[in-house]
Amino acid sequence: MKYSPTLNFINGKFIASASNRNMEIISPIDGNVLSVVSLSTAEDLDNAVQAAKAAFRAWSSTPIKERVQVFYRYKTLLRKERKELATLCSEENGKTFTESLAEIDKCIELTEFACSLPQLVTGEFLEVSKGIECRTEHVPLGVVASIVPFNFPAMVPNWTIPNAIALGNCMIIKPSEKVPMSCGRMAVLLKEAGLPDGVFNIINGDVEIVEAICDHPGIEAVSFVGSTKVAKAVYKRATGNYKRCLALGGAKNHLMVLPDAKPEMTAQNVAASMSGCAGQRCMAASAMLAVGDVDHIIEKICDEARKIIPGENLGAVISKEAKERIEKYITEAEQQGAKILVDGRTTIVKGKENGYYVGPTVIDFVKPDMAVAKEEIFGPVISIMRTKNIDEALAIENSSTYGNAASVFTQNGGAARYIIEKASAGMIGVNVGVPVPREPFSFGGWNESKFGVGDITGKSSIEFWTKLKKSTVKWNPEAGINWMS
Ligand code: NAD
Repeated sequence: MKYSPTLNFINGKFIASASNRNMEIISPIDGNVLSVVSLSTAEDLDNAVQAAKAAFRAWSSTPIKERVQVFYRYKTLLRKERKELATLCSEENGKTFTESLAEIDKCIELTEFACSLPQLVTGEFLEVSKGIECRTEHVPLGVVASIVPFNFPAMVPNWTIPNAIALGNCMIIKPSEKVPMSCGRMAVLLKEAGLPDGVFNIINGDVEIVEAICDHPGIEAVSFVGSTKVAKAVYKRATGNYKRCLALGGAKNHLMVLPDAKPEMTAQNVAASMSGCAGQRCMAASAMLAVGDVDHIIEKICDEARKIIPGENLGAVISKEAKERIEKYITEAEQQGAKILVDGRTTIVKGKENGYYVGPTVIDFVKPDMAVAKEEIFGPVISIMRTKNIDEALAIENSSTYGNAASVFTQNGGAARYIIEKASAGMIGVNVGVPVPREPFSFGGWNESKFGVGDITGKSSIEFWTKLKKSTVKWNPEAGINWMS
């Protein structure tokens, strides 16, 4: 085991759980055991909630301009430890080092946004009648929770940590039990940046701790990022307990390729989108709607896919089960009549024979009712569906239960505008394979890719992590002025 056991972080200290349930953290790169993590109990969670509650009074009454100073320092530490953090991220998640570096850079951008919050949360003020003033201010909620998935061990935690905490909340985060080590490193950096004990806490665990978070009366709000099945369960349980909840789910993102699209650029973008982070991105292109004759572009996509080498510029998928699930999808599509143009099954990387690698896979002539067309595969696979025109392509995109992202590749502004208007997804790209809105714009999908109001990052997150206080003040009551005056 390369690392010591991964512990909870409560009230500024790493603490072992009371649980006797443990899980090995296995590196997808080579199948080696990296560490072991305890699957915490409701009692561990309660200890964290009590620590966070105790810290809340002082933290929430610290002026926001002072609170964000922690994040200026945290940002500097992220930059200083960029390579070490990226190494850890790759080890536990399996993505390439380059991808992990980009992930840490995104953490830095998210933190920069949090540092700008004092400029964005100024309330409103108006003299509503003579001598009577109304004002609004954003106040923190209290103890909040963030439950995160395996695919971005550093970035997704940082979707919520800087904003929620800078806005005055105290947080309990529940990392994915598959990749909990990066979060532990964040705790060290936050402490070094001067964050008071108890403001940020980590409780490791699985379903048991997620349910305990949804049920705990001391937690005011729950943010969740993960699969749709679990997002639904968490949203239902947390709101059933009268908590505020924002739950981001899975995705099936459609790329529409029109005949006038620039072939090289389109092929590079499609291949990068379907294979980046081994296809384990909620923004990955997973279905391609080929509109009309785009054979020349499909050929180039295959050329680009063949340049992607597992173990070099393509990372591993998270587990043996994930590899088997992805390969089963490909085999089923083939059995149902689809054509495998580039086949990533049975990929073995020399020197990493025990790693969980799937090569880039391009499947053509997929029918809209096949599983590879409708379901989230979460691997480096693209399913191409042939359509006669834009409306046929849009009908397929619109029929998806998901709605995270959609993109179009074209040089025709009118067609692009039409697709922006008609696609049923929260994030749209034009000639962009992974249309993640950059800060200060917010991140969030539609339909079964998100449950709850607002988005998880950017300006929209302010509404989620705060409540509005409205005060009405009469400064000169002796004047006898009533509110109508
Ligand atoms: P997951 O739903 O399996 O797990 C997410 C979190 O929920 C983890 O912390 C896990 O411990 C917990 N969990 C798992 N099963 C649970 C259960 N039955 N009850 C309660 N909690 C449970 O997701 P994952 O496999 O870690 O991540 C991949 C998924 O996340 C994909 O579907 C991907 O699209 C999605 N994702 C979505 C976004 C987005 O912004 N919409 C971003 C990243 C990932």
